[in-house]
Amino acid sequence: MNEGVQKYVEKAKKMVAERERYLKEQVKKWKFDTIAVHGAYSVEEAINNNQGSIIEPIYMSTSQAFRDSDEMEAALAYLIPAWTYSRIHNPSIGYLEDTLALLDGYGFDGITGCCTASSGMSAIASAVDPFLVRIGSRQNEPINFVSNAQIYGGTFQQFSIRKMRERGIECRWISDPNDINEWASKIDKNTRFLFGELPSNPGLMFFDMKAVIDLAHENGIPVIFDTTIATPALLRPITLGADIVIHSVTKTLTASGFGIAGAVIARKNIVTNIENDEMKADFATYIKLLPNRDMGWCISPMQAIMTLNDIRTLRSKMDLLSRNSMTVAEFLSEHAKISQVNYLGLKDHPLHGVASKYLWLVDAEHDEQYGKSVNRYGHLMSFQFKNGVQAARRFFDNLQRIWRATDLGRIKSVATIPSISTHQQMGEDLRSMASIPEDLVRLCIGAEHPDDMIKDLEQALSHI
Ligand SMILES: *Cc1c(COP(=O)(O)O)cnc(C)c1O
Repeated sequence: MNEGVQKYVEKAKKMVAERERYLKEQVKKWKFDTIAVHGAYSVEEAINNNQGSIIEPIYMSTSQAFRDSDEMEAALAYLIPAWTYSRIHNPSIGYLEDTLALLDGYGFDGITGCCTASSGMSAIASAVDPFLVRIGSRQNEPINFVSNAQIYGGTFQQFSIRKMRERGIECRWISDPNDINEWASKIDKNTRFLFGELPSNPGLMFFDMKAVIDLAHENGIPVIFDTTIATPALLRPITLGADIVIHSVTKTLTASGFGIAGAVIARKNIVTNIENDEMKADFATYIKLLPNRDMGWCISPMQAIMTLNDIRTLRSKMDLLSRNSMTVAEFLSEHAKISQVNYLGLKDHPLHGVASKYLWLVDAEHDEQYGKSVNRYGHLMSFQFKNGVQAARRFFDNLQRIWRATDLGRIKSVATIPSISTHQQMGEDLRSMASIPEDLVRLCIGAEHPDDMIKDLEQALSHI
């Protein structure tokens, strides 16, 4: 390293130390809402680097200019914090990643990192693929991983077609994730990680996460959770000991519906049986600077700031959406034409107990409205009809205000029929394993007044 490069490295070290001090001494001590509003974006950062802009600027630039060849060399060798080229990094993307890392790390003593991705699906690929490598002495090892079967249709396709059929990597499905012996029986020396989606979309599966985390770690492998449906306002797996969390940021995190995005959040020093020290030490930074740079799964800076804008009110939004959903779920559960309502907040739901152990509105004990811990269950539910699929379709076609779309997580109420949309390509047998019956309607309640949503549901139900 020449002297010029060395100078840049020294200067960067001071900046990094200052930033770490700011995070540790200030930001990490704030409540969830304050972090959601400001993230790591400080007054100094605004004044020194952004002309005083109080809102994080959208850097619509492909690339960063360097003062000289020494700075360029240091940046491209990843010796100094730089963003270089927007496929690798970008300041606006950084603001979103800081906030997401802090929110999923809220209540966790250690450090978390985040790498955003162009979609929830690319976030999943970027979280799991680094564990599915065949390198060194492991060229000919059969590889497997274990996942609960009740997962999002796109994830099911990625695991069963892209990994299993095309790459010969076995995904071992868990049919009852609350049976820890089933998880244990599927793990062997070639298992690379455990994967869990909860609450699952659309079936609202929930299970004892702590037991699965402990089992993974006893076997020296990481656990990856997709907690898209809960968001960090209700559930933060890293605080429970999980290694990696993925989100379809597209959903409730970007409740406005302005575009597609994903994120991977990881704690430092994950548990893994892959020999790769960089990856183990700081998984989020590793995938960001190496595999994701090469795969090109980057998010747009515009998208990053639009998402950031939605996240600022995440906690109060999740509270409102959850309360509205509870009102609607109670209405549906008492309706004569509905056979079954899946909403984890309903007391008679078989998984209500285990879900209530984990799903808490963050900081409710510091909220003057509550002043104590409060369970909240999110805004996703699904239900079935006494008269089966014909009734489901008739009901669906008669909705007037609630949108028919393959979408969820919105500030607007949206319904879909998973068997003919999100889970269509799975086929009948696999749908039955993943518990997606034909007459299942998925409903995600928005911020409208629940009385108006109930009126719409009532009139649509009157047609069957
Ligand atoms: C939608 C969804 C995904 C995929 O996210 P995209 O942003 O649509 O790629 C993954 N997991 C869950 C639970 C989802 O709901």
